[in-house]
Amino acid sequence: MKICKYLKCSCGREAIYFKENEGRAYCKFCLSKYVEKNFKKTIGKERLIERNDKIAVALSGGKDSSLLLFLLKKFFRNELFAIIIDEGIGEYREKSIEKAKELCMKLGVNYKIASFKNEFGFSMKEIFEDLEIRKKLLPCTYCGVLRRYLLNKKAREIDANKLAVGINLEDEVESIIMNIIRDDVERFLKLGAFPSLIEDERFVPRIKPLRNLSEKEIILYDKIYKIPFEKKRCPFRGNSIRFDVRKILRNLEKKYPGTKYQIVRFYDKIKPLLLEKIKENQEKEARINYCKSCKEPTSREFCKACELIKKLKSLKEKYSTQNL
Ligand code: SF4
Ligand code: ZN
Ligand code: ZN
Repeated sequence: MKICKYLKCSCGREAIYFKENEGRAYCKFCLSKYVEKNFKKTIGKERLIERNDKIAVALSGGKDSSLLLFLLKKFFRNELFAIIIDEGIGEYREKSIEKAKELCMKLGVNYKIASFKNEFGFSMKEIFEDLEIRKKLLPCTYCGVLRRYLLNKKAREIDANKLAVGINLEDEVESIIMNIIRDDVERFLKLGAFPSLIEDERFVPRIKPLRNLSEKEIILYDKIYKIPFEKKRCPFRGNSIRFDVRKILRNLEKKYPGTKYQIVRFYDKIKPLLLEKIKENQEKEARINYCKSCKEPTSREFCKACELIKKLKSLKEKYSTQNL
């Protein structure tokens, strides 16, 4: 965990982390305090959590969601419940589910595992190990939509009124840039620490308490507190626009420290202005429909998950004899 033995924190202890944009070194004690303060500040600023909230935590067993559950348990007395999604990615997911269960047991948090196989009739591996399919479809697009769909459904089933997700600073900045690249204003406006613009009883509002913490800060905190998490990465990652955006942002951040924080701050300034403008012009609130097939909330006729499942099934039929 050492960065440079000559670097000292302002408290005099040996530093383990240098925060480029502040030009400041942190020891493990001061870094822990920084992470906790940042987490509480993000929650307090937008009132992400109210006293009686029942919070479902989307727990993958990775570094982010494990820290999220740990900090929520440490600082809040709210009822917590972990939802673990098994997309069926093979060994990688099996290991991370084990870590997630270990953490839940350590913290005394109840959990529920929901799998793609049970819910949709197929696992990610069954579809995407077929190279012909992988040439045509990006696994993350499908995995992301179906996971969000399932998390909302399972959070609602346990009567949670908030769904906490482990989105970190890098994830958030990437999403901002990706939506600009795609010219997707609707999804652009759905970002933020408390993105919910739609109020509907079938939709559990998502909150992102880690949104202002970087990946590095999260990993260091996990290590300091020995929080169990799976270090391996998903075998399907890499082939997506997010991956390319991440590379660009990493280079920008290296050259111009603070870039990522500035993008998030810019987003937070521009979002309320845009929303106001849209309301002024259109005088209509975001209206919610229910999917004609599965009855889940959506802004379309059929929800995105149903649309993608249909596409996957027809491709699978085309390229394989194996039934879904
Ligand atoms: Fe799913 Fe992509 Fe994440 Fe893998 S990297 S778990 S395929 S979203
Ligand atoms: Zn210190
Ligand atoms: Zn649907």
